[in-house]
Amino acid sequence: MASPIQQLYALQHVDTELRALRLELGALEGAAAEVKTAVGAKRSVTQAKRQEVAELERQRRDVETRLGEEEEKTKDRRMRMQRIRNEKELGALRREVEISRELSAQLEESLLRILDGGDGKLGELKVLEDDLAAAERQLVAVEQQLAERRQALAADLERLTAERARAAAQLEEGVRQRYDLLFERKGGLAVVEVRKEGDCGGCRMRVPPQLITQIHRNADVVFCPSCQRILCVPASTSSGGATRRSSSADTPG
Ligand SMILES: [Zn+2]
Repeated sequence: MASPIQQLYALQHVDTELRALRLELGALEGAAAEVKTAVGAKRSVTQAKRQEVAELERQRRDVETRLGEEEEKTKDRRMRMQRIRNEKELGALRREVEISRELSAQLEESLLRILDGGDGKLGELKVLEDDLAAAERQLVAVEQQLAERRQALAADLERLTAERARAAAQLEEGVRQRYDLLFERKGGLAVVEVRKEGDCGGCRMRVPPQLITQIHRNADVVFCPSCQRILCVPASTSSGGATRRSSSADTPG
């Protein structure tokens, strides 16, 4: 039967692995979320530009239709002018043709403006579309990477979670809670060794000799008086077989 400190040390080993896996997945999830947000923003900008281009296209068709109509009317008036001999009517038709010619000139001018603006906007749209496509490819890649890592780590996560539950169940409730709090607050370093110099491996403050004796006795969980971490002693300096740490707690990975 392992001592409480050995059990805590083993638990910390499992928790350290779990924490590394969760951090890795968390980082990938964060990166994926960031790219997703960027893609969303690029989609709206691109969509707005598409609408601008579509609106210009609509205006272009509208002007072209009106130009065509004016052309038809002028053709029609010229044919009528050939049949009409009445000077007054001819004069009126000539004025209509003249007005129509002016209108056509204006329409052609605005058509040119629309075509110019359209070229610029089409260029802008192309840049946005390319940018969006690149971001979408990046999103697919990041999400695929995340899915692959999730799948690859699923078995490890499951194994470690089960190991964690087993290890935690062996501990007294109060000790486990205190350990959990320390692991959380002390950056994943709740159980530390007393260094051979006699100071705490966590905060480097001197550990009183009577506490070291207590740790060697291995009966109670001993806390560092200054950082409150749980103290243990390296296997080589511990007395007796009772403090020999299990190989699973020693071997990383
Ligand atoms: Zn300390």
